[in-house]
Amino acid sequence: MADLKLPTRAEDYAEWYNQLVLRAQLADYAPVRGCMIVRPYGWALWENITAALDQRFKATGHENAAFPLLIPKSFIEKEKSHVEGFSPELAVVTHGGGEKLEEPLVIRPTSETIIGHAYAKWIQSYRDLPVLINQWNSVVRWELRTKLFLRTLEFFWQEGHTAHATAEEAEAETRQMVDVYTDFAWNEAAVPVVPGRKSAAEKFAGADITYSLEAMMGDGKALQFCTSHNLGQNFAEAFEIRYLDKNGQLQFCWTTSWGLSTRVVGAIIMVHGDDQGLILPPRLAPIQLVIVPIFRTDEEKTSVMESAVRLKKELIAAGIRVKMDEREGLSPGFRFNDWEMRGVPLRIELGPKDVAKGSVVLARRDRPGKEGKAFVPQAGLPEAVQAAMVDIQKALYDKALAFRKANTFEPANYEELKRAVEKGWALAWWCGDGGCEARIKEETKATMRCIPLEQPGGEGVCVACGKASKEKAIFARAY
Ligand SMILES: [Zn+2]
Repeated sequence: MADLKLPTRAEDYAEWYNQLVLRAQLADYAPVRGCMIVRPYGWALWENITAALDQRFKATGHENAAFPLLIPKSFIEKEKSHVEGFSPELAVVTHGGGEKLEEPLVIRPTSETIIGHAYAKWIQSYRDLPVLINQWNSVVRWELRTKLFLRTLEFFWQEGHTAHATAEEAEAETRQMVDVYTDFAWNEAAVPVVPGRKSAAEKFAGADITYSLEAMMGDGKALQFCTSHNLGQNFAEAFEIRYLDKNGQLQFCWTTSWGLSTRVVGAIIMVHGDDQGLILPPRLAPIQLVIVPIFRTDEEKTSVMESAVRLKKELIAAGIRVKMDEREGLSPGFRFNDWEMRGVPLRIELGPKDVAKGSVVLARRDRPGKEGKAFVPQAGLPEAVQAAMVDIQKALYDKALAFRKANTFEPANYEELKRAVEKGWALAWWCGDGGCEARIKEETKATMRCIPLEQPGGEGVCVACGKASKEKAIFARAY
């Protein structure tokens, strides 16, 4: 049996992450450098993420559709800042069916252009608006430095694309999706993200305004959880997405786009994981509870398995995602460690003594050792498990929030900012000038993550130049 011990996070955070992804069987490396094979356990987690989001998208009036993987290269070139932003990352198809193509095709890095093209055909009148479409797919961006889930050449995501009659409606949609994502992050992923606005330097190529949700990882760095863009009329003008208004006047539409990708899996790993491995929030965990039957003799096996099978049925009937560990020839300790490493929120240990007493040992992943173990009666077990899951979900969020708060500093000057970003986030007054932002990035490797929507109010002086500032921004090193 392979040694289950991971490097600790303090020893080598990056290696802890890499080995955890591989050993927990979330993903594997692919033959093409930078690509990723998502294994069934990782995909099941992604499926639960998609289900939680898809339900929220539909509840806010969006429909799913599918647009093509291949996009004419000329499309990408129509919106000036879009092509500048994406050109270095494009994968281009030059041959098809053994022949050189007349026009090269790009593999979508994102779908604003091809969807803009379709919307120009579909939208004629104000009666056709708004158009609210999402698609689940994968996209390709030719990244040079890759890391499983966090930055891969091909990644899975959803991209929402909407068209509206007015600037106000487009902005309301952009902000609505920030709220939808925040609700998902807080309540499903138990990740206390901070929603905010991106600086001009950090916004999406082709957007007027980009909002992002920023999450603090276990090493104090930031990770962009997802984004929502107000595209203004930039793509509407480039693709002639127009409508006749109530007065018969031809107007350009206002469009938005918003996306969340498989890098959120990386965020969940780094926000909640500990030195023993993954800790998954119950609401998203592919396996919420594992039953580990323990026996030595055949006689013991018969009675333990009888109880185990019955309890499993009861738990499944209550809607709990249960796995029975029926592997033989492995010590209970090994099996406990294995499920702990894979982040299963709850474990039932069931031996002959427990069967005799009509109880089980219920162990919480988020509280290692004896402290997280309790004897629970078999009668009413599903209710006890449901209650424990609610408790774990909240405990994970509270712990992550406390960590974020403890590692968010409010530097009063540039020297303090430099020290702050060594350990965590710097929430600092910023004058809004790109020069100050560039200087901070150059000298501290910390980027402007976002200007939080929630501001302290009042005024201060810019941490870089000392000029009067009305807003605070988060500066941090980031994934
Ligand atoms: Zn400044």
